Amino acid sequence: MLTCRRSNGLKSLVKRVLCAALVRSGLLGPLARRARAKEGRGRAIVLYYHRVLPSDDATFQPLLQLDGAPVTVEVFERQMHYVAQHHTVVNLDWLVAQFEAGKPLTDDYVAITFDDGYEDNYLYAAPILRRYNLPWTVYVATGYIGSDAVPWWDAVNESVLSCSEEQLQEVAAWLQVSSPTRSAVIKKLIRLEKELDAPQWERTRHELARRVNGAANNAAPRYRMMTWQQVQELSANGVDIGGHTVTHPLLTKIPWDEARREVAGAKRQIEEHTGREVTGFAYPLGDFNADVQRIVAECGYRHACSTVQGTNALGADVYALKRFGITDWARDARGEFSMDLFALELSLLPIRVWRGH
Ligand SMILES: [Zn+2]
Repeated sequence: MLTCRRSNGLKSLVKRVLCAALVRSGLLGPLARRARAKEGRGRAIVLYYHRVLPSDDATFQPLLQLDGAPVTVEVFERQMHYVAQHHTVVNLDWLVAQFEAGKPLTDDYVAITFDDGYEDNYLYAAPILRRYNLPWTVYVATGYIGSDAVPWWDAVNESVLSCSEEQLQEVAAWLQVSSPTRSAVIKKLIRLEKELDAPQWERTRHELARRVNGAANNAAPRYRMMTWQQVQELSANGVDIGGHTVTHPLLTKIPWDEARREVAGAKRQIEEHTGREVTGFAYPLGDFNADVQRIVAECGYRHACSTVQGTNALGADVYALKRFGITDWARDARGEFSMDLFALELSLLPIRVWRGH
């Protein structure tokens, strides 16, 4: 088994590029895949994106400069070109039907998903996916569809992005973040969102707003979600629209009846607008437990995606499908997107050698 491990050294970089050259030569992927497929050990890699942004639009520059930034339109185009050439891309209904029929996978499949429902998915990602004829799913938080309101999680990030350097230092000290960069503070806040209970998190959010003093005003264009008309158009063109709740809460932290309203409400609204059955769900911020899974199943969804990293094979829990989050990570030593590294990542994900994102 190939053992490429992540490290910053030059030796490691050379090794990675050599590995990548092997992958791109077409030798490694098909051989390994054929061996696994013969034994019925194929895997499904579910990729998830949030945003695909144009690099030449000043509106999005602050987002593109963060660690773990969204992919740019150019990079997404190259990724999809590669995926279309080297993988069989399937939708999740098909995949789950295989699992439910007890059929082992005879290839390494890829599925493509987006979370939240940003307008850039419609404007920039959809035309590229259509050009390569790739099936995909977008999980929408229905309360934000067609609304100009900045989603609550973006409002938190935006206040860190747009506050003054002095405010940033103060916030970093308050949150005990040792390296006071905007990326580090945002990462800490994301961690707190998940760790704190709801009242504690509310207090933290208000305290943050007080400390940055309304820095996040007028930022709506940067965070615009799709309209219902755009959602309908995607659905009519065969894109699967999945549920992602109404207001994007952490489902394990709210009362059950509220969680049920969030989960069922998204399904009902999407079905009313698209006229198609909604089969898939994605847990906001990847937050779920057995009770939340049961609610999702009882509301009539047939499968749900988590943000747990890993591949899926026969026997997978279809209400906790594993995924890999794709940001701008496949970068070389100069910070440029590297097709070799992306190819390497994708080829090795199924055999779980390459980890660390
Ligand atoms: Zn989300």
